[in-house]
Amino acid sequence: MLMSRLVRRLLPKLVPKLVPKLVQGVRRSIPRTAMVWLLAGIVALAADAVAARPVVSDVQLATETEGRVVRFIVDEPMDFRLFTLASPLRLVLDMPAIDWRPPQSQLERVARQSAAVRAVRRGNFRGETERIVFDLKNPMKIVQAALQPHGTKFALTIRWQDAASYQAQRFGDFREVPIPLPRPTRASPVEQPLIVLDPGHGGVDPGAVGRRGTHEKTVTLAMAKRLEKALLATGRFRVALTRRDDRFLPLRERTRIARRLGARLFVSLHADSALNPDARGLSVYSLSDKASDREAAALAKQENQADTLAGFSLADEQPDVVSILIDLAQRETKNRSVRFANQLVQTMVLRVPLLERPHRHAGFAVLKSPDIPAVLVELGFLSHPDEERLLLSDKHRSAIADGIVAAIANFFATDLQSALQSGGDASR
Ligand SMILES: [Zn+2]
Repeated sequence: MLMSRLVRRLLPKLVPKLVPKLVQGVRRSIPRTAMVWLLAGIVALAADAVAARPVVSDVQLATETEGRVVRFIVDEPMDFRLFTLASPLRLVLDMPAIDWRPPQSQLERVARQSAAVRAVRRGNFRGETERIVFDLKNPMKIVQAALQPHGTKFALTIRWQDAASYQAQRFGDFREVPIPLPRPTRASPVEQPLIVLDPGHGGVDPGAVGRRGTHEKTVTLAMAKRLEKALLATGRFRVALTRRDDRFLPLRERTRIARRLGARLFVSLHADSALNPDARGLSVYSLSDKASDREAAALAKQENQADTLAGFSLADEQPDVVSILIDLAQRETKNRSVRFANQLVQTMVLRVPLLERPHRHAGFAVLKSPDIPAVLVELGFLSHPDEERLLLSDKHRSAIADGIVAAIANFFATDLQSALQSGGDASR
């Protein structure tokens, strides 16, 4: 390990001197093909050593007729990914570990000169990813993000324009670095957190119905089973489903099941439907007294109607004293739910299409458990023909399942961290 690191560090310096001598030295004694392979090996090793850390030498901002351009000048090709995040609006650029040369003030100057950018931060994220975050004043539309030859070097060019509203966008294919999680020991399987998955609707209540006749209740059950499999495969969680077959289940009973079993996280799965035929994308809801917008409020009302449809009443509310206690517990739980919803949106950004403003709030009855963090995931729109087809595809379901599993792993890692920091805020 140490030896190879030393060789990697020294080799780029030695190769220019070494190669001519090697060529002379080995020419007499080694057959030509062997020599070619030997040299190829050395050159590849040297290239690898140099490639270990691309050098970013400059950051430039320019104005073009269509908008603004930021260029990161880098000495060799590298992977990157660029994506937008909502609330607050951010533009995030991830690169591999790099050798960053420009002074920090230059990056800040570039940010100040751009009307859309409020502030900029740069840091090493999880030890392997160099992350630059632009805090934005207004939503922006990324017109282009690409690595192109630039003189003798390369430029990572980002072009943007002002946009009227937020859109989830992503460019580049730099891979996400997984967060290492301690594996639970076999001696204490009981301590593995229990995740309760709640496939929406069922029985007499089909939920939304797609154009091709797909029932929401069928999609949510299939997705819950797919997700259960993926969660169990990690060996880190226990999983329970509120229903495993096509049966009606009152909303209150769904949360009761989670409480009875001692769930540490509750994830309700649904699929959306909208009058607007273009509406599509996954969204995540956390509980709030005030809905984030009219659509969210309408959706909550619609989902909450499941009980009334089947003759159950939502009216048996808690008595006052109890509700004050519940209120206190609920505030803390609400914060954790919001944090999980944010993490879920962030892991989903790179995997599946998202609805604009993908994290929303509303008063969903199924999320009103005072002590269990809970979110409701609207997997997509059955009213959108392409999305209806996607929601039936195994590949798309796997992408969603993998994203949710990554978010859950992340949530429990950071939840533990914030608990250890005695109430400190572990979110970024
Ligand atoms: Zn639903």
